[in-house]
Amino acid sequence: MLLDSQTKEEGFALETNRPYPELFREPKRIVVLPMGAVEQHGPILPIDTDLRIAALLAEKLEEVLGTHRVLRLPPIPFTLSWEHRGFPGVISLSVVTLHHILDDLMTSLRAWGSYGPSLVVLVSWHGGNQALESLAAELGARHNLPLVVLPSSKSRRAAYQMAGPQDVHAGSLETSIITAFWPDLLANRTAMLQEDAPPFQAMDVQTALQGLGMRRISSSGVWGNAANPSVDAGKAGIQQLVAQMAAEVREMLSFEHRNDA
Ligand SMILES: [Zn+2]
Repeated sequence: MLLDSQTKEEGFALETNRPYPELFREPKRIVVLPMGAVEQHGPILPIDTDLRIAALLAEKLEEVLGTHRVLRLPPIPFTLSWEHRGFPGVISLSVVTLHHILDDLMTSLRAWGSYGPSLVVLVSWHGGNQALESLAAELGARHNLPLVVLPSSKSRRAAYQMAGPQDVHAGSLETSIITAFWPDLLANRTAMLQEDAPPFQAMDVQTALQGLGMRRISSSGVWGNAANPSVDAGKAGIQQLVAQMAAEVREMLSFEHRNDA
């Protein structure tokens, strides 16, 4: 089972945050939906690394914003992982499938009427999910309900840069986060490695990854340095991301009264 019940108390829960009757007494302004990814993360990290990180960020975001304002939904595990195709453990949806899932979600939320939210936040950690932002803009417009994807690519990039140069996938930052929050899930600790992915000169790393596919870049599936994970770095990365996300949500809510419908 991907979602190990042993780790539940360590900050990763499948269930929503609100018991059912409360939804009828106290409508929530913000719906938070973690969007995972199930894909290879090299020989050390679990294939649901991005799902865990998204769910963790969603939980922490809820804590910061206040449980009374947030309805946190259970996560959608799979998204767009085509750039990792060819490795075992990779499951990918098509953009069209994802579009239908999110369209159905927004239709459902709109049907709640006065109990519905005024903002929907998709929490996605996976770098290959850029298409989510375009889908969010389109579906937010079609359903007249603001929909945003967080952390922003700028915030994610800042977190990776803090972890070190050329830290792209299953390297220092992600290994530090798993070490900090789910240390029992690290496999093969003695094989913690520094991958010899080539340093791209002209290309942006995410563009290179999307264009070439990971298998052509790194035979291990790691792009970065997983050799020296740090609990402090993992916690600091999460804290920084959550603070930025909360600030962004508050800013979005400040535009709530401006209804262009
Ligand atoms: Zn990842």
